[in-house]
Amino acid sequence: MSEPTVFTRILNGEIPGEIVAETDRVFAITDISPQAPLHVLVIPKTEQYRDVAELAEGDPALLAEIIAVAKRVAAEKADGEFRLIFNTGPKAGQTVFHVHAHVLAGDLEEKSLIG
Ligand code: 5GP
Repeated sequence: MSEPTVFTRILNGEIPGEIVAETDRVFAITDISPQAPLHVLVIPKTEQYRDVAELAEGDPALLAEIIAVAKRVAAEKADGEFRLIFNTGPKAGQTVFHVHAHVLAGDLEEKSLIG
């Protein structure tokens, strides 16, 4: 068995993290190293999918739920407008291989990207 990811450990309360939204299948946390006034990660509770391409192929409804939660968090915590980023693969800046959406909102630098 591989070790649980950092996100699963936050979900399970094993390490600290601020959970800002949750559904049966998805949770959202504030990023430990924010790159925008609002920087939240929206994450499926399952570790089954490493990246957004696997998720889209395996469970498109779960991907849609991630986007719905992103929209809700951006509406509740910012002005409702947001940038959604899925780093996919190490060369694209992905460091945690448990699929997650970066939700950036607030006054964004035009070129602010993650990775
Ligand atoms: P990636 O580089 O895989 O696209 O994104 C991983 C994100 O997870 C990074 O933005 C990083 O700051 C965030 N992160 C890594 N470890 C932790 C942690 O322990 N707590 C929280 N809240 N975020 C983390």
